[in-house]
Parts: sequence; structure tokens; C-alpha cells
Amino acid sequence: MTKKILVLAEMKDGNLRNVSIEGLAAARRVAQDSEVIAAVFGSNATEQTSILQQYGADTIYIVDNPNLNLYTPSAYMQSMNELIQTIKPDVIIMGHTAVGKDLAPRLAARLGIGLVSDATNLTVENGEIVFTRPIYSGKVFQKKKSISSTVFATIRPNNIPALEADTTNVAKVVSHPVDITDLRTVITEVVKKASSGVDLTEAKIIVSGGRGVKSVDGFNVLKELADLLGAGVGASRGACDASFCDYSMQIGQTGKVVTPDLYIACGISGAIQHLAGMSNSKIIVAINKDPEAPIFKVADYGIVGDLFEVVPLLTEEFKKVLDGAVV
Ligand code: FAD
Repeated sequence: MTKKILVLAEMKDGNLRNVSIEGLAAARRVAQDSEVIAAVFGSNATEQTSILQQYGADTIYIVDNPNLNLYTPSAYMQSMNELIQTIKPDVIIMGHTAVGKDLAPRLAARLGIGLVSDATNLTVENGEIVFTRPIYSGKVFQKKKSISSTVFATIRPNNIPALEADTTNVAKVVSHPVDITDLRTVITEVVKKASSGVDLTEAKIIVSGGRGVKSVDGFNVLKELADLLGAGVGASRGACDASFCDYSMQIGQTGKVVTPDLYIACGISGAIQHLAGMSNSKIIVAINKDPEAPIFKVADYGIVGDLFEVVPLLTEEFKKVLDGAVV
């Protein structure tokens, strides 16, 4: 029986990532009588304790070291390795983020433990933890059990809902400073690309454009709708290849995998490689002037029409509804 579940809480721009709160919910799903331990790294780690305890941590390890403010493989490997030797967890959970995708396989290989990546659910069956994860670009879901005594799992953002915050929950807080030595690289500066500011992998709403958007300026109508809805702006590879937008916006098999509550696909045909990145969105709206476009097969709502007419109309209607909501 599992005794300790360690959740690595990831920070971004000084805040906890939502997927870390979802990681605590994943841990609680399978915890039964096990201890759920959160570990948070960096100089302002202490500030995160109240959030972590409200969302399900029994114990919180604060690993405070300036070399952990930004992710580097060597500093995080040393610290996580040390922490795992101290805590001896049975299950380690973190987000399937850029950091998770880099760190989890390195650590699992170093420690000789099993790794289940991109899990969308965790359950207990016959006393064992079962991990559900997509394969074949999301066409099929497989269930996996670990055969190693310790298992590392990364969870897909936006799939396992966070628990309701419980402000009465009190966690034990453990300060756990680490020595980080022989760093081969340190980050001296982060130069960010201009972006919509909304992290696509955690966005609740995404407005996405394809080759049908026709130009860089064509994305302006999408951005207007996205700004109004607090949404992220994504793209198909067709739009990226045509230089209408940056590749950081690409959604699909070779881009980002997203699962928002609402995905609005504008001028996107719906190639299988695009669907691989967005078909698990909760509601899909497709706007395309070709009624035969494959995107309509996965859409919950389809609008056949010119996106340059339809999207501004949608923006106007949403404005009215949202203005009404404020009053
Ligand atoms: P098109 O297929 O050209 O579709 C444009 C659509 O816009 C059409 O359906 C058209 O009817 C519609 N349209 C045109 N004008 C308007 C208008 N004014 N109003 C409304 N609709 C309009 N693709 C991805 O997206 N993500 C990936 O990660 C990805 N990975 C790939 C990996 C590999 C190995 C390969 C081979 C391909 C990959 N692709 C990926 C590319 C994919 O196969 C498609 O080529 C791409 O998704 C097409 O982009 P699109 O739908 O924007 O363009």
C-alpha cells in the first residue's frame, strides 16, 4: 500500500502553476490513508505554503535556494534526488509541463524507477494505483500500473480538477535547505518572446487560427475575441509555417497539447496532427467556410462561414453578454 505521495509544485513567474494544484488533487484521489507531501523550490517558496495546504497537502517541504528560482536540470536534479532520498516517496507527481517533460525522465532514469508520462487520471483498482494516459495521438487511452516500487508520474494540465480550497486544513511545514554544488550552467537572464500572456497548456479558453486567417494581421480579429474572453491565442502548423504567427503558438502533434474548456478553431481544416493537440478540449467550436472541413467532425458547434465576418460578430455578442453580466 502506498505510504507517501510527493507532489513537486512548480512555480512560474513567482506563482504556483495550476497543474501543481491539480497534482495535489491527483494525489488525494489515490491517497487513501497515505501522506500527501508537496515540495516547493526557490527563494519565495515559503509564500506558497498557505495555497498548498488549502489544496490538499499534509506536509510541505520548502526547498529554499536561489539556484532553484528558475529551472536548470542540474540544480533540480541534485535537489530532487536529495529530497527523494530523504522522503522516500512511493509516488512522485508533477505537471506534464516543459519542466516536467525534462526533469521526470532524467530523474526516473537516474533513480531506476518507473515513469508514467502525460497521465490524465489516477485511480485505485484492487489496492493498486492505475494511471490513464493517451496514446496514438489521443485516439486511445491506456491504463498502466507500475511494476517498480516507486513510480514517477507527470499529469496533463487541465484534466484533473483542483479540489475545493479548504482554509481549515493545516499542513506541517518542513524547511529543507539543500546544498547545490558544481553547477555547470546558471541562468543569467530570461528573454521572453512577446505572447498573449496566457499559458496555452493551462488556458480555460483558446481561440486558434489556421491558414484561413491569411496573414499576420488576420490574427487581430482572433486576438480581439481572445482578449475579451481572457483566452489564449493558438494556431495550426499551417498558420505557423505560413509565418502568420510564432511556432510557440502551434497546437498539435508536434506543438502543444491543450485541453481547455472551450476551443474556438478559426480557419483550421482539422488535420489529424492538429486534432492530436486539441481534440480532448471540453467544447470545440469550429468556424470554417468549407462545410466539408474535417474539423466539423470533432466540433460540438460548427459555423460555416467566413471567419472575418463570424469572429467579429461573436466578439460583439460576447461583449453584450459580458457587459450584461457586469451590470
Ligand atoms: P489548411 O489545411 O490549409 O486549412 C485552412 C482551412 O481554412 C481550410 O479548411 C479552409 O476551408 C479554411 N478557410 C480558408 N479561408 C477561410 C475563411 N476566410 N474563413 C473560414 N475558413 C477559412 N499541424 C498542426 O496544426 N499541428 C501540428 O502539431 C502538426 N504537426 C504535424 C506533424 C507532421 C509530422 C506532419 C506531417 C504534419 C503536421 N501538421 C501539424 C500539419 C497538418 O498536417 C496540416 O497541414 C495543418 O494542420 C494544416 O493547417 P490549417 O488547417 O491551418 O491549414
